[in-house]
Amino acid sequence: MEATSCPRCGSKAAVPIVYGLPGERLMARLAAGEVRLGGCGVGPRDPEWHCKACGNDWRVSGPGYPRRRPL
Ligand SMILES: [Zn+2]
Repeated sequence: MEATSCPRCGSKAAVPIVYGLPGERLMARLAAGEVRLGGCGVGPRDPEWHCKACGNDWRVSGPGYPRRRPL
């Protein structure tokens, strides 16, 4: 996973937002605060990153960006 900085505050404390049901490894990363759980539904406008410094949510890819379907 490529490191991303927040477009609003520039903090490096950005974590990817994951959608769908988390597995065991993902649950561990959630507990460690390395990722943020976005929920079961995902749409083309849902954010992909979350800033832990300022709470900003954003996405880096436009609509139609190829992505795996959630479970
Ligand atoms: Zn921020």
